[in-house]
Amino acid sequence: MAEKVIDIGKIYFIKDNENTKMCSDIRIGNRKHTTWFSLKNEQAKYFCERSDAFIMAFLLIAMRKGYDIVCHNVISKKLHYQLNHYVIPILSDEMEIYKKITVHADTIEEFETENAIGTALSGGVDSLYTVMTHGKDCEYPVTHLTLFNMGSLRKEDPKKKGEIFPFACEKVKEFAKEQNLQTIFVDTNLEQDFEYFSTAITFRNIACALAIQKLLGKYYISSSRKVSEFELDSNCCESYDLLVVPLASTESLTFYLAGQEKTRIEKIEAISEWNVSYKWLHPCIYGSLGEKNCGHCSKCYRDLATLWYLGKLDNYREVFDIDEYKEKLNINLAYTLANCRGKLNKNVSELLDSMENLPQEVRQYAKYFKMLMKRNLELKEKIQNINK
Ligand SMILES: [Zn+2]
Repeated sequence: MAEKVIDIGKIYFIKDNENTKMCSDIRIGNRKHTTWFSLKNEQAKYFCERSDAFIMAFLLIAMRKGYDIVCHNVISKKLHYQLNHYVIPILSDEMEIYKKITVHADTIEEFETENAIGTALSGGVDSLYTVMTHGKDCEYPVTHLTLFNMGSLRKEDPKKKGEIFPFACEKVKEFAKEQNLQTIFVDTNLEQDFEYFSTAITFRNIACALAIQKLLGKYYISSSRKVSEFELDSNCCESYDLLVVPLASTESLTFYLAGQEKTRIEKIEAISEWNVSYKWLHPCIYGSLGEKNCGHCSKCYRDLATLWYLGKLDNYREVFDIDEYKEKLNINLAYTLANCRGKLNKNVSELLDSMENLPQEVRQYAKYFKMLMKRNLELKEKIQNINK
């Protein structure tokens, strides 16, 4: 019978004409697979040959299974201490699905880093807010924009006949050139680590940054929630970023949770004063940075309604079809008012509801939408019961 551990094998590198992969063979019980992080060859010198990145990538799955982690490379002493003394005991104590485990590894304190300061650029509200608030006037201004491919950017884009990732990288480069910043892009196969995306996204982001610690001295993870919205929800690791992000810091790399002082609505208000956002805002769940937003997904509806509330819609003609949105304005607002699923949707819905001068027609349409949503839910439940 296989030992109940996650075994993180000795790190090795595979190089081709363009890219270098930092790999480790991972064994989870009986299953084996190779996890890798990939950089362009000219940036491969920034790889940190410690197990830090691999541990963070596999921490949640190890805790879900109740398997200890055994590493065959050293890990940063500070990270080892913080995981075993704080992150693991707290998460396992507070969330039923996670069990208390131990990370076993030799540790090291020495480090080398170029002290670059990074953050990811997705084009979403949180990411743009972080870039805007960490410019030249900040004590620690961003020097490098990153893009980490943790699975979602591997999707094929039928329009471009290829993966989204290379296209998105080109767009980040274009933004970086305009803002006089540098870039670094990390490809991975982390989507194969068997953990659901929304429960693991922060851990994967941290893993990618830890993989390039020889470059990064500070890294900003953009918070999707205000500090008062902190909760320990095992279905959404972003709900407890405030706990995990600072505790993932090592001797060489300090993580900050940026933007936790504001709600999403407050962030939209802030970036709507920054003309860079008029060209680059991309909250849409489809396509990528630098493309027009669809205007019809849950995130587009949410942010368009907020921009309408702020009187800023017309500034965003380059990235949204504003005429189309305005043509059926009352129906679009009603849909947002009715759609309270998820904390962020609820916030925008409450914002609209609080408006004394919201047209009566919007409230009436919203009632119909709610009735339809309820009926759809009931039908879905019936179908599920039939299929049982
Ligand atoms: Zn959209």
